[in-house]
Amino acid sequence: MSTIDLRIRNASVVLSDGPRDLDILVDGGKITGVVPRTDPTVATEEIDATGLHVFPGLVDPHVHLGPNITYPQSAEDVARETQSAAAGGITTLIAYLMTPQPYEEVFPIAKAAMEADSAVDFGFHFCVVTRDQLESMPDYVRDLGVSSFKFFMNFRGDEGKYLDLPGNDDGFMFDLLEAAERNGAMLDPHAENIELVWRLRALGRPEGVNDLDAWNLGRPDYVEAEALHRLSFLAKVTGASVYAVHTTSGLSLDVLRQGQQSHPDLFVETCPHYLTLDINAPCGTYGKVNPPLRPRHDLDALWSAVADGLVDTIGSDHVPRHKSFKEKDIMTASAGFPGMQNLLPLLISEGYHKRNLPLERIAYLTSTRPAQLFGLYPKKGVIHVGSDADLTLVDLSGQADITAATQLSGAEYTPWEGWHVEGVVARTIRGGESTFANGAILPSATGKFLHREHSGRAALDAIA
Ligand SMILES: [Zn+2]
Repeated sequence: MSTIDLRIRNASVVLSDGPRDLDILVDGGKITGVVPRTDPTVATEEIDATGLHVFPGLVDPHVHLGPNITYPQSAEDVARETQSAAAGGITTLIAYLMTPQPYEEVFPIAKAAMEADSAVDFGFHFCVVTRDQLESMPDYVRDLGVSSFKFFMNFRGDEGKYLDLPGNDDGFMFDLLEAAERNGAMLDPHAENIELVWRLRALGRPEGVNDLDAWNLGRPDYVEAEALHRLSFLAKVTGASVYAVHTTSGLSLDVLRQGQQSHPDLFVETCPHYLTLDINAPCGTYGKVNPPLRPRHDLDALWSAVADGLVDTIGSDHVPRHKSFKEKDIMTASAGFPGMQNLLPLLISEGYHKRNLPLERIAYLTSTRPAQLFGLYPKKGVIHVGSDADLTLVDLSGQADITAATQLSGAEYTPWEGWHVEGVVARTIRGGESTFANGAILPSATGKFLHREHSGRAALDAIA
């Protein structure tokens, strides 16, 4: 019998039907066996995972990188952020490129920057904001391997100007939905009705509430839910696969649940912050995000939907802008915050320990399902012979405090400051190589670009 590269011994391996006592064999960057402890295979390197659970490497489907979250262009945009991903157990991310420039020009720059410095494998979503980009969708899918496209329903008039993105309307979105359906792609719309927000803005800041609640009341749950209602309907009319990013509220979940009854190709993402932080969180303006953090009852509704299967994925919506952009009043502070490093520890701590969320459900939400929906499965998303050896080793009873000092992101703050978590990432392995272990980032080969032929229904059909 020949010697293989790596054997992970004595682990509890999180398979789709629950954890099992098995060893994992790795050779040439791939999983070559998931075997009983007694299997005789010999490896050059052995990792003793006694007391640890091994999850399929996390696939974070919602990440922003680069200056003003446009697209990654330099080592500065890539190194620290992807290291924060590796420290969080993430082995693959899909980053949003957001610009009105032709993606034929932007893609090579972003890809080269990532290939030079990324600690994780990566794919891209393109934000489509011009007619030229819309007409190029077939080329983007076929030639560039990008099969998912963002659209901001709230960017009407000058609303997208702060990101240099032009305004659009429902007609443009309808064309986008049709194009996505024709090209085996999926649309990832940011759902908010900005006209309702304008009406509330004109009324001024509500009195007698804290900053986060003021932000929430200026873009309340029905602003998101109305947009999702319209989106679900147009998705059904066009037959398009649609992925509802960063879903925040019980009202929105009701709309999506209803929409799925007549159009099943409606997929649902939420984020760790909507599951853990509410309008009374002590983080203040650090917690400003769009859509906003919500009242407590929405958080409970989201956990129910995570447990009952309505929610497909949990993405970080990582935004790495420096804390200086957040240390302003709530109306002018920038929206979004970093999240990749804390996503899994928060889910273990708040989901598994406090709410009995099964480990295999966490693996599904954070790895299997995003890999399936975004055309990466079974290369990613599963611990199975032939899959990439992307593995996240977790100490379920490990204790940690989340503080700015523990964060690797260049943002230098965290909205979870002072949170105590039970459940820590012990080691992250990508393509058979450790990228993070014993609390430190390890030098490793840089991440590879992932060409994604389809997303949504077309990707699910390709698996079956
Ligand atoms: Zn986002």
